Amino acid sequence: MILFLWKYTCINGHEFEVPQLDEFEYGTLLLRNELNEIQYVCLGNKAFDEIDRLVSGHPLVSHFEEGDLTDVVQSVFSVACDINIHGGPFKIARRQSCPQCSTRMMDDWDQIIPFKPVEVDVKEVTHNHWFSLSEAEKKSLVDTAILKELKKTH
Ligand SMILES: [Zn+2]
Repeated sequence: MILFLWKYTCINGHEFEVPQLDEFEYGTLLLRNELNEIQYVCLGNKAFDEIDRLVSGHPLVSHFEEGDLTDVVQSVFSVACDINIHGGPFKIARRQSCPQCSTRMMDDWDQIIPFKPVEVDVKEVTHNHWFSLSEAEKKSLVDTAILKELKKTH
């Protein structure tokens, strides 16, 4: 797929370029694992819709405002994605780490202008494990993930 180079500056002042979606791309999201491998997911993905439904209807977060709820949905979505055993779970919000100091905490990130398009081989995220689970097992995974997310942010 065609991605665009962004300039990132980590909290220690190191600058590096990262292939990302266009700032105004709608309907596609990238996920990263701990090895900085990327996969993509498109709007309308069946597993994503299931997570969206389970999270939106969950009593602990159903009262959240839309933006906050979206953050929880995107975070919990990782439980529905197959894991690369070496790289851990794929996460939507995970940033690429700095090649010099390995931090994922950034001071600044901007799409480079004029655009620098790059062709990158990105695979679509898979859900073989998720689709093998029963509804009760899915709910239990989502419960755990929501509790973990709430502990992190509240
Ligand atoms: Zn750095």
